[in-house]
Amino acid sequence: MKNIIFIAPPAAGKGTCSDYLVANYGYEHLSTGDLLRSEIASGSEFGKEIDSIISKGNLVSDEVMIKLVQDKLSSIDASKPFILDGFPRTIIQAEKLDDMLISMGVTNMVAIYLNIDFDLALKRTLGRRSCPKCKRGYNVYFEEMMPINGELCDDCKVELSKRSDDNEESFKVRYDSYMKDANLIIEHYKKKHMLKTIVVGKLEDVLHDVVKEAEND
Ligand code: AMP
Repeated sequence: MKNIIFIAPPAAGKGTCSDYLVANYGYEHLSTGDLLRSEIASGSEFGKEIDSIISKGNLVSDEVMIKLVQDKLSSIDASKPFILDGFPRTIIQAEKLDDMLISMGVTNMVAIYLNIDFDLALKRTLGRRSCPKCKRGYNVYFEEMMPINGELCDDCKVELSKRSDDNEESFKVRYDSYMKDANLIIEHYKKKHMLKTIVVGKLEDVLHDVVKEAEND
């Protein structure tokens, strides 16, 4: 399988696709959002700084993100394919990533753009929940992802949590700023003949298309 860069606005489903690829195809999943959230959860000073940036929907600096990804990429299991989820988010990060991949000798890459309509992404964001214990994801607005019992995890029976940045105000900032940079990143990978676009619809169709694009030719 190819290594994947997901280019996807908030709530386009890159997390769900990544979980599927990890479980079924042995991918390593590198999510910059998760890395930042675990730094926040550690309660460190750096985590507090990041929290104030993320909760407003703003981007963490390129310098910090490049260092974070560089460290993480150098420590992953090289025998497995990997997913970059949430990186690159700016053209500077994309150019730096090109250099990192060259120096690692990685060539088998595809950039998958999950193209989602604004209203659908907003509804998904506002309904998104997750179990704080087992991390299973839910959506209280979509039948196929609703918890059975109110807002409790089906398995652990604990109250589901909501991300602090999953509110309408922060979503609009994140979506607009995401698309401004995403258009440049899309062009970047188009020029390198690495771009594949998937229009987001039913989950099973998206998963099927992602696997098809990730399979080696
Ligand atoms: P995500 O889980 O990918 O939606 O990321 C959550 C938040 O983390 C984003 O809204 C940004 O504030 C921050 N973040 C994640 N990845 C990056 C990145 N590559 N560059 C800058 N900020 C990032």
